[in-house]
Amino acid sequence: MHPQMSQFLPLPTPALADEGRSGVRHIAIIGSGPAGYYTAEAAQKRWGEDVRIDVFDRLPVPYGLIRSGVAPDHQSIKGVAKRFEGVALSANVRFVGHVAVGSDVTIAELQGLYDAVVLATGAPQDRPLGIPGEALGNVYGSAAFVGWYNGHPNFTALAPNLAGTTAVVIGNGNVALDVARILAKTRDEFNGSDIVGPALDLLDASRIARIVILGRRGPHQIAMTPKELGELAHLNRAAPHVAPEDLPDEAADTALDPGQRKSVVHLRAFAASPAPESAAKPIAIEFDFFAAPRALLGETAVTGVEVERTVLVDGQPVGTGDKHVIPASLVIACIGYQTSPIPGVPFDDRNGRFANEDGRIAEGLYCVGWSRRGPSGTIGTNRPDGFGIIEKVAADQPAAAGKPGGGGFDALAAARGLAVVTFSDWQKIDAAEIARARDGAPREKFVDVAEMIAATGKD
Ligand code: NAP
Repeated sequence: MHPQMSQFLPLPTPALADEGRSGVRHIAIIGSGPAGYYTAEAAQKRWGEDVRIDVFDRLPVPYGLIRSGVAPDHQSIKGVAKRFEGVALSANVRFVGHVAVGSDVTIAELQGLYDAVVLATGAPQDRPLGIPGEALGNVYGSAAFVGWYNGHPNFTALAPNLAGTTAVVIGNGNVALDVARILAKTRDEFNGSDIVGPALDLLDASRIARIVILGRRGPHQIAMTPKELGELAHLNRAAPHVAPEDLPDEAADTALDPGQRKSVVHLRAFAASPAPESAAKPIAIEFDFFAAPRALLGETAVTGVEVERTVLVDGQPVGTGDKHVIPASLVIACIGYQTSPIPGVPFDDRNGRFANEDGRIAEGLYCVGWSRRGPSGTIGTNRPDGFGIIEKVAADQPAAAGKPGGGGFDALAAARGLAVVTFSDWQKIDAAEIARARDGAPREKFVDVAEMIAATGKD
């Protein structure tokens, strides 16, 4: 029995009449990030007052990737949380925070309670690099590193050592750009961001002067978007550079789609800028293309990255045998993410997501967003994804089955003593974070679960 049980329950019941009437459909959405709330919005639009939606999250705070993944200096992207708040505050939607599906409650139990269970758990785990030396000190995956500077409780204790001078960032996607930019920024450049205080202090004392962004393929194969690349040109103390010889003939750019062409225009501008030795700014951000990491070197902490030059064969990188070592004191692999398995849910190990056919996993069990399709696309991609999965639920289940829904979950949570955090509890956490923000910052996040719970006033 959880010690705080009586203080947390019951969850407020949605303020809609006739909770028990037949025809009301009960949906559990697991995960309160973009995929979760877009799915909740879609269910509301589809069934109006004839649906009750519980949005579960293992953390006491909502919004998943918006809070813990989106870069802290990209506040405009985080603005979508306002839209999700609107959904969360609707009478037929509840936030069921601080409940770990798979351990506090099983998938089978939820399937017994709700007409449909939709997994929107994202892809919070790092994909392994699969090369020697990955376990060395000061080697991190981007889920951990980004989670650290964004205050995700799982990564509060990361404490990366920034006393060395060279960081190697592996990968040519937008997360690699986020990480490079965060490593390069001055304290002042974080004004207006919600980077957490401990990370800001550590970054402020950083001695990193060289950031190498390693791509195993070339400039035409990057997965970086133009706006994010363009930001690198406007940093106070860091300048990006591309080796001109890595760029294909400009004529070849015409074969690229318009977005990719814009990105390559930025790379061409970086190639035309002064080489790091003669650049006016003290931090160099160097793009190293056709460079596949083969091993991380060092005794206890990483001291270097062994890299093999590549050529493209049918678009894929093939090693040439030409190897060199980049001395490095910090390595961050930004090579994509995978979904965390949940007991009882079939998993596609090869692709690192739930085994599904177009979002269908089993009768009454679905997945959406990154846990369905893998970690790709923008936040907005999850909107059609959410609407699509609700159409599938509607097609599979023309009528509600008369399941107990949220009331049944509340009884189970009470019996188990789960310390459920409601949306109004979250609003207290939110207010407390805003109240303790440093000057110019939108909030100072709590970085551990106990602090979050304490802010609800229920501990
Ligand atoms: P991503 O876009 O899939 O990029 C992963 C990068 O890692 C690719 O360049 C890939 O190279 C490389 N890679 C994979 N395995 C590798 C290996 N073993 N060795 C070396 N390189 C390897 O993933 P992401 O950057 O994590 O981003 C995830 C999603 O979030 C993307 O859709 C991204 O656009 C989005 N996002 C958007 C923003 C924004 O809009 N501001 C910010 C962050 C993230 P290959 O191409 O050769 O496989």
